[in-house]
Amino acid sequence: MVKLMQVYEGKAKKVISLDEGKVIMEFKDDVTAFDGGKKAQFRGKGWLNAQISAHLFRVLEEKGIKTHFIGVAGENRLIVERLRMYPLEVVVRNVVAGSLKRRLPLEEGTELPEPIVELYYKDDSLHDPMINRYHAKILGVSEAELGEIERIALNVNEILREYFRGRGIILVDFKLEFGKNERGEIVLGDEISPDTCRFWDAETKKSLDKDVFRFDKGDLINAYEELYTRLTG
Ligand code: ADP
Ligand code: UDP
Repeated sequence: MVKLMQVYEGKAKKVISLDEGKVIMEFKDDVTAFDGGKKAQFRGKGWLNAQISAHLFRVLEEKGIKTHFIGVAGENRLIVERLRMYPLEVVVRNVVAGSLKRRLPLEEGTELPEPIVELYYKDDSLHDPMINRYHAKILGVSEAELGEIERIALNVNEILREYFRGRGIILVDFKLEFGKNERGEIVLGDEISPDTCRFWDAETKKSLDKDVFRFDKGDLINAYEELYTRLTG
């Protein structure tokens, strides 16, 4: 019998500790944007994000990326390896969108000459501020660890960018989280879903991600379903 232990409830997921170094990640139907200023629930979103994340973790594993993914455990649940998470959000960008427009004098949709990696300190009370490698060091992430995290993040970008290109979708930007497993290895954790990435249809530039909710661009479930079908169909 698997013994259930503690539960952490975040904004988009519940994390339920099992023994044997595993956790269940349960994807909720809740969605939040603008630092929690906009909230809603969409029936079926948890299922879609769990399935899309599972699919993309499999794609990455096949290309040699170490991820926490172990398997799908029902409708909106994944079983993953328990990690000691770094308090970082690692954002990779290929095309100008979102907060980058407030940082650089570039138009939305401009393709960047090379991918940009940004670091944010994952802390709701400080509103997830952008940080640099000096700050990261103070937060306990060594230069070697950060170098490895950035290397994996750029590798993930290469793999996923190509994968989405083949399906007529532009991978605009996305956020990753990393942690360390019991063997001390740096492993890709959390989720890779339309909640945490920007995906644009290559022809129409239509959003297939959370921007549909952020900017009232249409029906979130329709957009996420279209993404899911184009990945798996
Ligand atoms: P938030 O904490 O920002 O509200 P979520 O609702 O997505 O975010 O909660 C999921 C939590 O689980 C996050 O804090 C994330 O860092 C953490 N997490 C992701 N993968 C793992 C893992 N493999 N082991 C332990 N914790 C994880
Ligand atoms: N992102 C995320 N969680 C966050 C912040 C950003 O998943 O807490 C993702 C976001 O969905 C986008 C990318 O990271 O794909 C870059 O986000 P940006 O900095 O543009 O922030 P935004 O203004 O969109 O919140």
